[in-house]
Amino acid sequence: MSTLYQNFIDGRFTPADPGTAIDVHNPATHALLARIPTATPGEVEEAIAAARRAQPAWERTPAIQRAAHLRAIAGKLRQHKERLAEIITREQGKILGLARVEVDFTADYMDYMAEWARRIEGEVLQSDRPGETIFLQRKPIGVTVGILPWNFPFFLIARKMAPALITGNTIVVKPSEETPINAFEFARLVAETDLPAGVFNLVGGRGADVGASLCSHPDVGLISFTGSVQTGSTIMQAAGRNLTRVNLELGGKAPAIVLASADLDLAAKAVVDSRVINTGQVCNCAERVYVERAVADEFTAKVRALMAATRYGDPMAEADLHMGPLVNQIGLDKVAAMVNRAREQGGEVILGGRKADRPSGYHYEPTLITGCNADMEIMRKEIFGPVLPIQVVDGLDEAIALSNDSDYGLTSSIFTRDINAAMKACRELRFGETYVNREHFEAMQGFHAGRRKSGIGGADGKHGLYEYTETHVVYMQHG
Ligand code: NAD
Repeated sequence: MSTLYQNFIDGRFTPADPGTAIDVHNPATHALLARIPTATPGEVEEAIAAARRAQPAWERTPAIQRAAHLRAIAGKLRQHKERLAEIITREQGKILGLARVEVDFTADYMDYMAEWARRIEGEVLQSDRPGETIFLQRKPIGVTVGILPWNFPFFLIARKMAPALITGNTIVVKPSEETPINAFEFARLVAETDLPAGVFNLVGGRGADVGASLCSHPDVGLISFTGSVQTGSTIMQAAGRNLTRVNLELGGKAPAIVLASADLDLAAKAVVDSRVINTGQVCNCAERVYVERAVADEFTAKVRALMAATRYGDPMAEADLHMGPLVNQIGLDKVAAMVNRAREQGGEVILGGRKADRPSGYHYEPTLITGCNADMEIMRKEIFGPVLPIQVVDGLDEAIALSNDSDYGLTSSIFTRDINAAMKACRELRFGETYVNREHFEAMQGFHAGRRKSGIGGADGKHGLYEYTETHVVYMQHG
């Protein structure tokens, strides 16, 4: 019998109904790993009510004490690192090394947000009146909801929870139904600490019912969502009915610009690293390349060699892999269909281009497509797989124009040794992030935010933290 997890509401695990439980499978072997509960409408109601009851006392708790709770949880995560990493790998399919990085990063993120305890600041303003002082105070919003994707499922718990809690909010988290086990294990570790009941709650279930109920609840002050553009739009509509704030971290179609002035070895390695990490299932991954004509053949040959050397397989059974499987059959079929359409639209597949011939697992071959142009779907839609399309351009202006001509605006990169070209790109690229001469991957002290359909608001650093606060102005008359 596989484990049936339980929702974590008001500091307690609640009995789960096996009849509505959701099976979770390993994408490399298709083995059943565990079952998670579908929260009933009553449980969704109770989770939000518990978060609401707990919030005033949590807000009154000094921030430095709230920080101690975050650090205690970070300590638990480090203590159980290996077990948690294996759980993440089994249910999501990323290689074990990356899963370990994810657990470390999650614990570090909790500590990083805890460090803000003594740094959340307001302002004191001059008044136009005599005998008056104006104070701007940063206050928590109240009850927040965190809706998570499956690609970095463990880290995303902390990315929502840590800024919410350190600023005095409480939270109800719903993990993705694809990768929920790590979140239920996280809740078990939280339950071993003395975090007050109701401050952190976790409910399982599918997006269309449990997720939708959480996002349409009038007592929720902020919905922090990471996932697809389509779901982000649905959530925003639900939030609109109650005028609930939203923070939306959505998809990407990151361009990588490679100029003739680039260090081509560095560029090729950084682009390939950014494409194969997590089997290409990362919002900030390099999703399309614009290479300057003079170096196109040389760069493409270097990329091809690196992509061809990319080893993939079952990350729990094989060592020294670069990639595991894609997360599910839908993801695999989507990638395969996009590559087929790219062929039909004139792209030349010079490496890979097929589902991998393996007995099990949602594996797709590392794939390189040349001869791409701006009209092709593969240059415009998020692939979310180990497939790299390359378009040749005649200079920086063309590369910038093509990069900006996109529904998405999350991350971008440029490779050049020409400082003027780099500065021009940083000035003209309309993206939330630009990486110069390095792979795409954000830092926790930065600010991760998308333009256009890549989202609203952002996460990380001081600016991400303050998204979990609202400003209260006090006009104080005194002697
Ligand atoms: P998804 O939109 O399918 O699902 C995300 C979550 O939303 C899941 O928990 C799901 O159950 C829930 N959900 C679905 N419908 C809902 C509804 N109507 N109401 C409330 N919740 C609902 O996304 P996914 O496939 O899990 O994640 C992949 C996507 O996430 C990609 O597009 C990727 O680019 C994006 N992503 C973005 C970032 C970022 O920081 N910008 C980070 C990671 C992933």
